[in-house]
Formats: sequence, C-alpha cells, structure tokens
Amino acid sequence: ASQALSRIGLAGLAVMGQNLALNIADKGFPISVYNRTASKVDETVHRAQQEGQLPLNGQYSPRDFVLSIQRPRSIIILVKAGSPVDQTIAALSSHMEPGDTIIDGGNEWYENTERRISEVSQQGLLYLGMGVSGGEEGARYGPSLMPGGSHQAYTNIQDILQKVAAQVPNDGPCVTYIGEGGSGNFVKMVHNGIEYGDMQLISEAYDVLKNVGGLNNEELSEIFSEWNRGELESFLIEITADIFRVKDDLADGFLVDTILDKTGMKGTGKWTVQQAAELSVAAPTIAASLDCRYLSGLKEERENAAEALREAGLIEPEGVKLSGVDKKRLIDDVRQALYASKICSYAQGMNLLRAKSVEKGWGLDFGELARIWKGGCIIRAVFLDRIKKAYKRNPNLASLVVDPEFAREMVQRQAAWRRVVGLAISAGISTPGMCASLAYFDTYRRARLPANLVQAQRDLFGAHTYERIDRPGSFHTEWTKLA
Ligand code: NAP
Repeated sequence: ASQALSRIGLAGLAVMGQNLALNIADKGFPISVYNRTASKVDETVHRAQQEGQLPLNGQYSPRDFVLSIQRPRSIIILVKAGSPVDQTIAALSSHMEPGDTIIDGGNEWYENTERRISEVSQQGLLYLGMGVSGGEEGARYGPSLMPGGSHQAYTNIQDILQKVAAQVPNDGPCVTYIGEGGSGNFVKMVHNGIEYGDMQLISEAYDVLKNVGGLNNEELSEIFSEWNRGELESFLIEITADIFRVKDDLADGFLVDTILDKTGMKGTGKWTVQQAAELSVAAPTIAASLDCRYLSGLKEERENAAEALREAGLIEPEGVKLSGVDKKRLIDDVRQALYASKICSYAQGMNLLRAKSVEKGWGLDFGELARIWKGGCIIRAVFLDRIKKAYKRNPNLASLVVDPEFAREMVQRQAAWRRVVGLAISAGISTPGMCASLAYFDTYRRARLPANLVQAQRDLFGAHTYERIDRPGSFHTEWTKLA
C-alpha cells in the first residue's frame, strides 16, 4: 500500500519487544513491527489501537518489514539471546542495505555482539548491542538503555532513544552511548550482577529482621516503606514493602510465606562472576548472591541436611533465646548494614567494569553509567546519584569505598554493620552477602594483610620468590634449612 515509511522497526514481539514498540510509537515515532509467529504481530497491532491509535505498522514477512522502514534503516531485535538472534539477523539482513543498522536489545553475551558487528560489517551494516533494563513496565513506559557498538548507528536513533528512555528530573534521559563493541551488553550484564547482589542483601535484611528481630509481615512492610523514604530509596526496596502486604489468594496468610524458597536465574549473574574471575577482580558480594541462588536450588538436600544435623545433635540456633535484642535498634542497625553492604557491592561492580574498560579500551564513563541507572532499571535508586557525583568528582576513583563521602558513610555505619553480622552469625542465620561485603571492606581498607605468610609458603614449597617491605628486589630463601 502507499503507507508512509516507518522511522524504525522492531522484530521480536514477546513481552519486551511488544512493550518497547508501543513505547516508541507512543512517543510519536512511526514504527514497523515483525515477529516470526504472526499472532504476536496481530496482538501488538491490536494493543497499538487500544492504547491510543499509536503509529504502528504490523508486518508479516521479513522482506515487507524491512522495506517498510525509511533509510538508513534502524531495526531493533528483541528475541531470545543466542542463536535466535543470529537467525533473525539472517532473515532480515538479506533485505537490508549498506548504512542500515541492527540493534540487539536482548541480554546477549557481549562477545556474540562483537562477532556479529564484524559479520554484518561485511555487508556494510552497522550494529548496536543495547542493554535494556526495567522489565515489562520499563520497556513500555521508560527503560534504562545501554547501547554500545557503532557510534554512527547510535547517532541515527539518538532522538528516539532519548524520548523512549526513562526520564529522571534534572538528570536527563536514562540512555547514553556506552562505548564500542559489546560494551552495552557488558554493562547490562554487570547491572544484572549488581541486581543479584541487591536482592540478596535485601533478603538477608528480611531474614535477620524476621528471625532475629521477630518482625511479622506487616511490620516488615512498614519498615521497608520507611526505608524507602530515606537513603535506601529504590525500586527494589519499594517492591519489597509491597510484597509483604500481599495476602495469599489460595490459602490463609501472606503470599510471601507460601512461596518455595528456590531461586531461579537466567545466567547474567553467573557471567558477571565468571568475568570477575577472568579479570582478577574481587566481586565477593555478587559471587555470594550467585552461590546463594545455587544453594537455594538444593531444596531437598537442604531439608535432608537440616534433618541429618538435627539427628547429630545440632540445636537449632534460631531457637536459642537471643536475650537483649532491642528491636528498634536492630531495625536501625540492619538499615545501616544494608546500606554499607550495598556500597561495597557497587564498588565491586564498578571495578569490574573498569577492568574490562581498560582491557578493551572502551573508555567507560562511570558517572554516566550511574546516571542512566537512576531511572527505568531494576537497580534504580536515589543512592546512584551519590555514585554519579563520586565519579564526577574523581573519574579515576580507585574504589567507591575511598570516595570521601562514601568513606565517611562507611565509617559511620561500620559499628551497626558489625553488630548485625555478629548477631546473625551467633543466631545461625547466614548473611553471606553482608559478610562478603564486610570482609571486602576489611580486606581492602587494611594496609597490611596476612598475605606475607602466603608468600612465604609459596616460596617454601615452590620457590616462587617474594618481595620485601624494606628493600627492592626479588628474594628466595631455603626455608627448610633455616627452620
Ligand atoms: P523471550 O522469551 O526471551 O523470547 C521470545 C521471542 O523470541 C519471541 O518473539 C520469539 O518468537 C522469538 N524467538 C525465539 N526463537 C526464535 C528464532 N529462532 N527465530 C526468531 N525468533 C525467535 O522474550 P522477552 O522476555 O521479551 O526477552 C527478549 C530479550 O530481552 C531477551 O534477550 C531477554 O533476556 C531480554 N530481557 C528480558 C527482560 C524481561 O523482563 N523479560 C528484561 C530485560 C531484558 P516467536 O513468537 O515466533 O516464538
């Protein structure tokens, strides 16, 4: 038909694609949409009509879809990561022309993006790997967008992305050009790793308040609501407060209490920890959150272990009367422990990003990353503004922990933090995230560690040599002859 060409296209109309397409159309950019299975095209077209006669053009073949978009074309793909992306690129690219762009918005492994950048460049196509965060709601009403790859490709759709992204008052849209290659995917991956850490730390705060403090769901909801009005104000704290209010629709009581304690995962947290190991960056809080998901998955084994240890004579430490726990003070301590633990977790994520940025020459701007995470995404939080400012003050900051403002906050909170971790340990309640953060802090801040002994051992059994604190050079000692 003689329909005007669309400004942009989007292929892959599951939850994310459908909502992002409607968001783009809602901002006044005519968009063509396509999906392998036709029914999702119909669904999206229907929604576009329902949600306000949005300028959305449904297409049913890759060729018609591509040809319905104005040149140079920009086509966002939102399909399952991995080979579906390759298949979709193959289906579309044969109809595309030099100067056109493919933008993968999925949670893709960054090296796949780098491979595709070079593959499609042989055809003269440009490519972006764009992290999209904020789930269904975010995609529809304003996500945080992390586009990396061709700068020209970014410039072509900058106006669209800036309108579609979440808007933070006085701080602009939650999108920025991240850097070359797979940097956008890598940054999104670390964002998800940080998200794992945040969720773990919140669940530990819940565990301590519930099982040491004896708080019920109503009280928990109130506490988290209150926290959400202070320094911890964030999406995850807010939804946590909401969760504690929801009654079970299939049984008596609260829904949260009937949910099986077994966490699912899709892989970005694991990639984050693998990358941290690969780059020799300590990320113990994020690693602890991943380990906890693994252990949570062993529900049956844990039930057996509880039984076996009870038979072996273990007295349930939770049953031990924790005399002298002042509820009010515990709540305030947990808030501080959560905040301090969170700073350490973000420090780990940021340092992982820095190590990768150096390795790949991406030139990541950490202040900007903190800024675009302030809205739209799952880890959005008021506290990210402080991180932004810390990196604006000093772009080469070695660690968030030593930024003067954060350093002062850590010092103010460390007594409460230690009380919470100590109390949890004596109550037999595991707080691996908070412990990992505290150990990270205590290891990082100490000018002298027991690593001298490890060096001595390595030199004794492997002649690995050591350095001395009092003179330069490399030394080896025949330890056993001297002992
Ligand atoms: P999804 O469940 O990951 O994928 C479903 C979509 O992929 C459908 O459109 C499906 O088409 C298409 N697809 C699967 N295999 C295909 C193939 N071989 N060829 C062509 N199309 C194929 O969808 P999603 O949850 O919307 O997520 C999309 C991407 O965004 C993923 O990378 C995901 O990790 C990421 N993401 C998701 C969220 C979230 O909250 N869900 C948040 C951030 C990022 P058919 O309809 O034809 O099967």
